[in-house]
Amino acid sequence: MAKKGNRNIFLFQCSVCKNKNYTGTKNTVNIKEKLALNKFCSHDRKTTPHNEVKI
Ligand SMILES: [Zn+2]
Repeated sequence: MAKKGNRNIFLFQCSVCKNKNYTGTKNTVNIKEKLALNKFCSHDRKTTPHNEVKI
């Protein structure tokens, strides 16, 4: 049985090339603000800021 909860899946979109490179989950009840992380983009071949977008 899957755990009951409010964890929702979202995508991390590269702010440079707009590719959606990563997925993540978060509890939308506890975390209201959007996530933004520096992640490696295979398209740009460098670390770029990735912003949260809905699937
Ligand atoms: Zn990129």
